[in-house]
Amino acid sequence: MGWVSNDNEHEGWAAPVAPDGRLSAASTIEGMLVEGITGRYLPDKMMPDREAVPDREIIGWRGACTCGWRGELWERVSSPADADFSRRREYLAPTEYAHASSEVEDAIHDEWKTHLAPLEAVAGVKAAAREYEQAGRRLDKTVAAAKAAGASWADIGRAVGISRQSAHERWADRS
Ligand SMILES: [Zn+2]
Repeated sequence: MGWVSNDNEHEGWAAPVAPDGRLSAASTIEGMLVEGITGRYLPDKMMPDREAVPDREIIGWRGACTCGWRGELWERVSSPADADFSRRREYLAPTEYAHASSEVEDAIHDEWKTHLAPLEAVAGVKAAAREYEQAGRRLDKTVAAAKAAGASWADIGRAVGISRQSAHERWADRS
C-alpha cells in the first residue's frame, strides 16, 4: 500500500489488475492476492478469503483508493515493441513479479493526487465555514456585551462597518 492523504481519509496505491478486473492490494510469492474465491486460483494460506493470481496473468495496473476511487487502466503488453507510455502501455516480462514499474507507479500516484485535489479544496471550504460560524457567534456576543455596557446602535454599527439602522435590525431582537 502506498500513499495517505493529509487528513488520513484516503489511502491510495497502484493496484495490479487480475484478468477478471479484480484489484490486488497485497502479494505473496504465489502471486497477487485478490479478494474472493472463484476456484480458478489457489486460495491464500494466511487469508482464506483471498486467492493468488499468478504474476504472469496480471493484465495491468490502475490507481485505487480506500474511498472507492479507481484510476484508468495501465495495460500490460506482452512485447517490448508494444510498450508506449503515452498510451498507458507498459511491458513487463512474464517471469517478473507483477508490481507496477516505478514510472507507472509515479504516474498513478499523480492521478491519485489529482483525484484528491477537489476533495482537499472542499475540506478548506469546510474549515473556513466553521471559522465563519464561530466568528459570527463571537460577534453576536460582543455586540450584546457592548449594548449592555451602554453603547448605542450607532456606535456598534460604526464598529462593524454598517449603518445604525442595520445594526439595530440585526441585533435588537437578540439582546
Ligand atoms: Zn480517495
